[in-house]
Amino acid sequence: MTMASQSLRGFVVSRCVAAGRPAWDLARTAQEAEHADAELERQGANPAPTFRARRLAGDRAALKTWTNGCRFEWLGGDDRRPGTVRGTDGRIGAFNGEPLRRATSKSTIKTHGPKVPGRMTPSFAFGYLERAIQEGLGRRAFRMPEVDRALAFFGEPLTCVFCGSEKVTLWEHLVPVARGGETVLGNMVPACQPCNDSKHSKPYEEWLTQRAAKSPDAAGAQDVAARIARLREYAEKFQHVVTTPESRLDAERLLRVEELRLRAKQLRADVEAFLREPDA
Ligand SMILES: [Zn+2]
Repeated sequence: MTMASQSLRGFVVSRCVAAGRPAWDLARTAQEAEHADAELERQGANPAPTFRARRLAGDRAALKTWTNGCRFEWLGGDDRRPGTVRGTDGRIGAFNGEPLRRATSKSTIKTHGPKVPGRMTPSFAFGYLERAIQEGLGRRAFRMPEVDRALAFFGEPLTCVFCGSEKVTLWEHLVPVARGGETVLGNMVPACQPCNDSKHSKPYEEWLTQRAAKSPDAAGAQDVAARIARLREYAEKFQHVVTTPESRLDAERLLRVEELRLRAKQLRADVEAFLREPDA
């Protein structure tokens, strides 16, 4: 079975089995689900769109709620009622503590041929809207001259700033957009895809340190302190100061953005209600 054809929940279970069934706590399980979803995203699969949207929005509380709703065996017993069918998207309890609904998912259809695209959900779409608001409120000034200066800072050969891999595939926000990071010199760093998938919206110092503690033999883990120092030096050199998107607004615009968010929330609820109608 390829990962793309697996539910997110199933993928998390596989990871736990592969790790020798450790007694992960809720936070760790949610983290594993985040990693699994990042992996699925890299493969172009999105079996749990609600989870994806919350992950992209950096909403850790919602991810924990989702994880809790999965009733993983190692989190206090699998109390699935007999006959309960789990959606192929792994969505059983939903996000708001709603009772089990939608026993079979319509979002993914398993076939033997090419992958049938998953269904775009309102929560996924509105997750992107929030991301667009955050990015739109931040600066974006990272073109040829800035790229050249960043490349000059990190030197040759070009390697991932987090692990040292030479398979650098993208510029990553050192401070994630969800935490106020902007697309500017001092915050954009060259990275490899695996590091990008693993880090996503975590603070980089915390993520690097935790990863090193977990697997001291992993590439790049030995020189974590030096890497963190170098990244701080980079941010300082180009004077990247982290601010929240909201702090960049005056009181009036702050009110307006909050109002837009409220409207988006309401619109999302309306769209969801509309799609739930019997004839949808
Ligand atoms: Zn890397």
